Amino acid sequence: MEYTVMLPAAGSGRRMGAGENKLFLRLGGEAILVRTLRVFDEDPDCRGIILAVRPDERERIRKMIEESGITKVSAMPDGGGERQDSVRACVRAFIGSGGSGDAVVMVHDAARPFISRTVIGELASVAAEHGAAIAAVRSKDTVKRVRDGLVESTPDRNSLWLVQTPQAFRAALLAEAEERAEADGFLGTDESMLVERLGYPVRIVESTYDNVKMTTKEDLAIGEVLLKRLEEEHE
Ligand code: C5P
Repeated sequence: MEYTVMLPAAGSGRRMGAGENKLFLRLGGEAILVRTLRVFDEDPDCRGIILAVRPDERERIRKMIEESGITKVSAMPDGGGERQDSVRACVRAFIGSGGSGDAVVMVHDAARPFISRTVIGELASVAAEHGAAIAAVRSKDTVKRVRDGLVESTPDRNSLWLVQTPQAFRAALLAEAEERAEADGFLGTDESMLVERLGYPVRIVESTYDNVKMTTKEDLAIGEVLLKRLEEEHE
């Protein structure tokens, strides 16, 4: 199933403490951003990549894309102050360039370079059929709801999933959800929340624990280990 991917890449990477956008940090000698872009660039089902960037990083990113031979980036809108603003800029770029409301689009954190092609394919076909599908893994840990340092309750672990990206949607559905959230001043922590609040069903696609978001220094160390394992598998 063909799809267009939207990659918000306009964060600051404060929690990484790198002093610059964490997507420029290298994993196995290559920038995290380039690794993520390559997954989609090499997927025959990916029709195009819309990349939200910080205006002051646009030239640097354009050069990185050129030097790494990435060919599918079709638009680079300015990102915004919040991740949701950056995603909305991508959605507007897609619709503004004549993208069909029936097309499948997926949003993926540029900071997750280890996403599997199998999960991407599954998300695209479930979203095409049902409208919305998100990548998630089962919670390995017991999760507590806590207030003021006191445990309030323990939700049944079997019903708890940890949500990742990609999150895939029919484009018209995501566009409606983004615009409604903007009009209502609602800020979500993922795209699914914006779709859920309009009452649309969202399906889960089981993903892998490898699909880590490079957020702190510890994640980079995990990333290096994952990379080594992947290289060994391909030897
Ligand atoms: O900070 P965090 O890792 O949760 O951000 C997830 C993704 O969203 C990253 O790829 C980051 O570059 C992007 N982002 C963005 N615009 C923002 C904040 C984050 O595009 N204002």
